[in-house]
Amino acid sequence: MNVITDIEPPSAEQEQERLVLASVDRFLERHVRPVAMKLEHDDEYPAEIVERMKELGLFGAVIGAEYGGLGLRPSTYVRIIERIAAVWMSVSGIINSHLIMARIVERMGTPAQKQAFLPRFASGELRGGLALTEPDCGTDLQAIRTTARRVGDDYIVNGTKTWISNGIEGGCFALLVKTDPTAEPRHKGMSMLLAEKGPGFRVGRKLEKLGYKGIDSAELVFEDYRVPADRLIGGVEGRGMMCAISGLELGRVNVAARGVGIAQAALDEAVRYSQQRRTFGKPICEHQAVALKLGDMATRVTAARLLTENAARALDRDERSDYEAGMAKLFATEAALENATEAMRIFGGYGYSKEFVVERLYRDAPLLVIGEGTNEMQRLLIARRLIERNRI
Ligand SMILES: Cc1cc2nc3c(=O)[nH]c(=O)nc-3n(C[C@H](O)[C@H](O)[C@H](O)COP(=O)(O)OP(=O)(O)OC[C@H]3O[C@@H](n4cnc5c(N)ncnc54)[C@H](O)[C@@H]3O)c2cc1C
Repeated sequence: MNVITDIEPPSAEQEQERLVLASVDRFLERHVRPVAMKLEHDDEYPAEIVERMKELGLFGAVIGAEYGGLGLRPSTYVRIIERIAAVWMSVSGIINSHLIMARIVERMGTPAQKQAFLPRFASGELRGGLALTEPDCGTDLQAIRTTARRVGDDYIVNGTKTWISNGIEGGCFALLVKTDPTAEPRHKGMSMLLAEKGPGFRVGRKLEKLGYKGIDSAELVFEDYRVPADRLIGGVEGRGMMCAISGLELGRVNVAARGVGIAQAALDEAVRYSQQRRTFGKPICEHQAVALKLGDMATRVTAARLLTENAARALDRDERSDYEAGMAKLFATEAALENATEAMRIFGGYGYSKEFVVERLYRDAPLLVIGEGTNEMQRLLIARRLIERNRI
């Protein structure tokens, strides 16, 4: 066997992935890392970074090339998100819910909706997110109270959404509503609209957060807001939960990838610092209590990455992936939380200082165990699928 000639050349897809990841790495080192700390502490929206992301095509990362997107596979997308989150997690949130909205339109929308919206989403000209959560419900989405009543060629929307990422800077949202509030089962009365900002649709307030700063999280208020009926995603009422579920599959692997990024960044910080900091005559990495932490942290990152890639590959194959994505999201986000905490301990008092990155990782990580379905719900969902796959 000739080892040299038997090595297959990279496929066009692998070559595209290599080029995309290299340009993301350059963008992060030149334009994000130098400003992340300041923008985060000032809670300032990264407008210049967003312009660069448009140039890179990131707002169309997983949108099909026929609509002007990059058409990347989910397995490439998670590698991009891991890299971004390791430098500044907030930046990954700017594209996450935007691309969930785009995925819902691409998979569930009418041909006219795809033509009208996807090219604008892909270029970043029209950006936005996903509006599911309300003040009284997040996990139990079928309890939403926002209604859309059909009047002639319009829907009239009333209600309040909260915690909506990109709520202030975004212009368009995939909005979960009740078109039939009395329907049983409840999901049959739920639909999703593409809601562009306009009269009757206003930002209630910006929400203050522990971490994940820079990106805007907002309350959105709808008061007799009129949406043309042709903005009903898919053109048929009653598909709102299906739309949400199809978008959240991508959201879950995005959050898992953010977990890997945070867990890796915490490990990198700890590996570096533990070799510089000396106590009792030696670097702290040579004390067994610290070394045990580093060993566990590195193992968690690797396991989290493998689970995330496994889930993303299921999405690449267009397979139902809630079991795999649930495991990846659960494990990778708990890994982020544990690694961020361990890094803070390894840094001692400096871990508590705003001059070091570890303090930000510690504040960013908890969001991941809540968003895109809490980890309690992921455990329940994994168990449900497990039983379904192994019925006796
Ligand atoms: C920074 C940030 C950004 C966000 N961005 C968005 C966004 O862009 N769009 C959007 O729509 N939402 C967004 N959210 C909302 C987020 O998705 C919800 O907070 C999340 O779904 C949980 O809902 P909840 O907060 O209402 O908690 P609840 O549903 O009230 O849950 C509270 C607790 O009860 C547990 N629980 C609930 N039901 C069960 C059950 N059946 N079994 C076991 N345990 C249960 C939960 O796991 C949790 O621990 C965001 C939230 C934050 C903090």
